[in-house]
This record gives sequence, C-alpha cells and structure tokens, in this order.
Amino acid sequence: MIVRDALFIGGSWVPPAGDGVIEVGNAATEEVMGSVPDGGPVDVDRAATAARAAFDEWSRTSVDERAKVVERLGEALSALVPEVGTVVAQEVGMPLSMATVIQGALPALVMGSYGSILREVVFEERIGSSLVVREAAGVVAAITPWNYPLHQAVAKVAPALAAGCTVVLKPSEVAPLSAFLLAEAAEEAGLPPGVLNLVTGRGSAAGEALVAHPEVDVVSFTGSTTAGRKVAALAAQSIKRVTLELSGKSPSVVLDDADLSEAVNSAVRQCMLNSGQTCIAWSRLLVPRHMHDQAAELAADVVASYVLGDPLNPSTTLGPVATGAHRERVRAAIQGGVDEGATLVAGGSHQPDGLDRGWFVSPTVFAGVEPGMTVAREEVFGPVLAVLPYDGEDDAVRLANDTIYGLSAGVFSADRERALGVARRLRAGMVDVNGGGFNLLAPFGGFKQSGYGRELGRHGLEAYLETKSLQLP
Ligand code: NAD
Repeated sequence: MIVRDALFIGGSWVPPAGDGVIEVGNAATEEVMGSVPDGGPVDVDRAATAARAAFDEWSRTSVDERAKVVERLGEALSALVPEVGTVVAQEVGMPLSMATVIQGALPALVMGSYGSILREVVFEERIGSSLVVREAAGVVAAITPWNYPLHQAVAKVAPALAAGCTVVLKPSEVAPLSAFLLAEAAEEAGLPPGVLNLVTGRGSAAGEALVAHPEVDVVSFTGSTTAGRKVAALAAQSIKRVTLELSGKSPSVVLDDADLSEAVNSAVRQCMLNSGQTCIAWSRLLVPRHMHDQAAELAADVVASYVLGDPLNPSTTLGPVATGAHRERVRAAIQGGVDEGATLVAGGSHQPDGLDRGWFVSPTVFAGVEPGMTVAREEVFGPVLAVLPYDGEDDAVRLANDTIYGLSAGVFSADRERALGVARRLRAGMVDVNGGGFNLLAPFGGFKQSGYGRELGRHGLEAYLETKSLQLP
C-alpha cells in the first residue's frame, strides 16, 4: 500500500484541511493499492497563495538558472523511472516494459528537454521604438488525466517552470501516485518553496476551485472534452488564459497502394496501446472498400496475438483498463456497436477467458462500421477499433475529417508524397505518415473539439509566456 497523507504546498509536506481520502485501485487485481488526500477548496487556496508568493522571485531568475533546475529535475526523474513505471503500470494497466519507457522515461526526457529549449528562446526583440519582451504568464493551474499521468503532468510543469511560472498541479484522482514522485524530485532538484505545489482531489471540488481561483492566471487542462468545456467556461469568468488538450476519435487512413498487412498491423497496435486509453488512439481504421474484408481479418489476427494479463507479468502485452467504472463504459460502447449493427470480428463485451479478476476488456474489432454509428463517432477510450470502408481518396479525407475531434491521424501509402498530400488535408493537430514516430520536441495538441494550444517542445512554452511592449523614447 502506498499511503500519501500530505500535500506538497509552499515547499513542505502539509496535512490536508479535511480528512477525506481517495483510494487508488490496482487495475489488474481490483485491490486498493494506495490512497491520497481528497483535497478541496481550502487546500487549493493554500497552494495557489503559495504559488503566488513564490512567483515574483522565480519569474525573475535567470534563464540559465531555470534551465539548470529543469535539467536537474529531469535527472531526478530519470532516477525514478523504474518506480514510476511500476506504479503507473498498476494504476493504469499498461504492461510494465512499455510503462517503464513511456510512463517513466519519457517524462524524464521531456523535463530535461526544456533546458536547451529555454536557452534558445528569444526573450527580447526590438520592433521600431519598442522593446518587446516575453515574460512569465503567472500562476499556472495544471490539471491532468490518468492515462499517461506523469507525462501529462510534466508536459505542463516543465514548460511552466522553464518560463518562470509557478504551478499548482492537480493530478487525476484515478492515477495520482506518480505526481507525488514528481514533487519529491522537485524537492531534490532544489526548486524553491512554492514554485511547484501539489493538491490531489476530485475534479468537481479541487479542480473547479483551482480553475476559479483568483490567484491563478493560466489554466492548462488535459482531459475529456466534457470536462474541458466546463473548465473553459469557468476560466472565462475571470478571463484566464486556457490551454485544452481534450478527447479524440482519430482515424488512420490506409491508401490503396499501401502494404495492407504492415499498415493494419501498425494501425491496430497504435489503437490498442495502453488498452486504447490513449487520447491520440487511432480508433477508426479507414480502408478502401475492396480491401475492407481483408483489412478486418488482418486486424482480428493482430488482436488475437495479444497476451492479456497482469501488467507486471513480463509475458503480458495488453493489460486491463484503469477502473471498474471505466470497464463498464467500454463494455457499454461495445454492446452499442453490436446493437447498431456493426460486425464484431474480434473481442466483445464479455470478460476475457481465463481472467476472473482485473478490469480487463477483450481487444475488440468492429468491421463494416457506418460513419453515423456511435462507435465511429464517440471516443471509447478502450481497446476498440472500428473499421470503415471508403470509396476513393477524397472520400477517405472526407470520412477522416467527419468528426467533432481533430487530435491525431495516420496515413499509409507506398508513395510518400501522396501520403503527405493526404496528411496535409486532415484536420488534426498531429498526423503520422507511414508510421512516423512520436517526437517529444514536436507540438502536441488538437484541432476542433480536441482543444486548443500546444504542448511539448518550444511550442509548449507559448502558453506560459506573456508578451509586453516597452515603448522607448
Ligand atoms: P477527465 O476529464 O474526467 O479528468 C481530467 C482531469 O480533470 C482530472 O484531474 C479531473 O479530476 C479533472 N476534472 C474533471 N472535471 C473537472 C472540472 N469540472 N473542473 C476542473 N477539473 C476537472 O478525463 P480523464 O477520464 O481523467 O481522462 C481521459 C480523457 O482525457 C479522455 O477523453 C482523453 O481523450 C483525454 N486526454 C486527452 C489528451 C490530450 O492530450 N488531448 C491526453 C490524455 C487524455
């Protein structure tokens, strides 16, 4: 049991104002693996006040000083990689070998990346008689979801600290444990008191109190579009600057000249990563109509190769979903697909064979999916793929863009230029061409109802910088 009974505020571990706790479940065993304080408005007020008190001094530190701090923080996080991997594998359900790299090592690299990014920022320029300066935007509320918990926290905390902002982090109540490791790393890296504060709690209490708090200048939110809409409305009351990284229903588009087997393999694996609990998951696979049946068969074969089990077991390649409530939502979405007439070619809403405990969902493939079906329109956030046929390239682009979301997409073609041409027509913030991999320095974020603003790399700094013109005589 990992029991965390204190919040990190003003550089100290302090008891929460109330005595409520939030239990954290182990996705594979359904047992309680830890608990954190159920913080509320009083804790948020203390944290935001501490962040405000630390802002003046921190925002005036030199670029070099802040760059060194984020680099030290990156090193401190590197030392915690195995611990983070193990904790998040259990909270979220990602197999340990993957969790070690993606949940543990990636955030350490992202944190460290802001040292050199910061040193390259142009903080001052002359425009005619004016000196235009970039400066820290203020106190940041960083609110994060549970699927890549440390990565999402670091994608906000790293650029915010680098820019000279101070932060109150409110991690997800579902997977809050790695945030405590981040706070410990900040202590170790010598971050001054109040520069990073941690308050755990629920979205409706701690989250809303933080968004509404008068001392908060910037809200950076990652989570569902439903909650993002509320956050934006609440932040608008006091005209706070807002960044939103929200939901998706991302397509992968296989063009008719692509190697079908390679493309389907790559698309299915991207969709199923972290049991489909990935905002950028390609949950719609678009294939030429004449290739549809073969594509569906290939997708079912890929899915059949997964070994489901406890994420800590080295032979596991697909784990459970994060909570029992989430499993029920995913199962209902699968049943909905069946009820609406999609063809189930793999998986289903039953508990997978041989796994009598754990919040498992069978990796599921629907074929013959019509664009109007719920499984083609709504984010499931589980291991569920919808295969849709299209007629010609224009139709593929039309279908790919036929969504309220616009987070991510993939394009596969034997002709790189053709794939790039289609990629440019897709209304999404990130498009992978022929399996091009994740780049931690490239801007990350969505179009349409997937949100606004960008994270990571130098674009990720923008949310945390204000621009000021000094008119000179
Ligand atoms: P969620 O929206 O339920 O919660 C996200 C965070 O917001 C949590 O910390 C929660 O406590 C808080 N919250 C909820 N309601 C709030 C409110 N009214 N005011 C303030 N805070 C509130 O999302 P989740 O279930 O944790 O995460 C899954 C969702 O996140 C999916 O929709 C997924 O697509 C999305 N997501 C998006 C990205 C991205 O970068 N675009 C990345 C990961 C996850």
